[in-house]
Amino acid sequence: MKKEVPAGCPVLAARALLDKVTPLNRDCGALCGAACCQADEDGRGGMLLYPGEENCYADLPAGFSLREVPEGMLLTCKGACERHTRPLACRVFPLVMTVMDNRPGVMLDPRAWPLCPLMPSGIQGLRRDFVEKVHQAAELLSAHPRQRAFLERQQRLISAYTQTPWQEGKKR
Ligand code: SF4
Ligand code: SF4
Repeated sequence: MKKEVPAGCPVLAARALLDKVTPLNRDCGALCGAACCQADEDGRGGMLLYPGEENCYADLPAGFSLREVPEGMLLTCKGACERHTRPLACRVFPLVMTVMDNRPGVMLDPRAWPLCPLMPSGIQGLRRDFVEKVHQAAELLSAHPRQRAFLERQQRLISAYTQTPWQEGKKR
């Protein structure tokens, strides 16, 4: 039987907050050839879904695929999508939502540095309403234990990504 997205699902609410806002007034994909939608040189790509978000993909849009990985459910695409099918991770990029020091937070995703031309301008370079909605989504998600645990895990992944070799083994 097909799984329905439950009404009141926090991921749906967070996705809805980010339905209409974008990082810039113009299509930022035109600046970079939609670099964040392309697979890397090893042909890898994909977005980790928030807990329960996979239920939004019971009917997979053309070009999408879904698989389980150790970190959760990974959605991959062919580099083009309609906005309403876009996962939360893409809706907030180049920002990322986390929980740090027990508080929900929003930061530039350090994994965006190699590809996103918006990074050097910092958060101040992004549309204010976009940043505000991402903050609201982080607050909303962090109120739900399963989502909060995901945000905490996301913070740990980012910490590991930005860790310098001489910090390896240190507790963060
Ligand atoms: S890489 Fe950055 S500028 Fe390019 S489409 Fe993605 S978010 Fe926009
Ligand atoms: S789902 Fe859409 S926005 Fe996200 S990487 Fe694929 S094409 Fe780009």
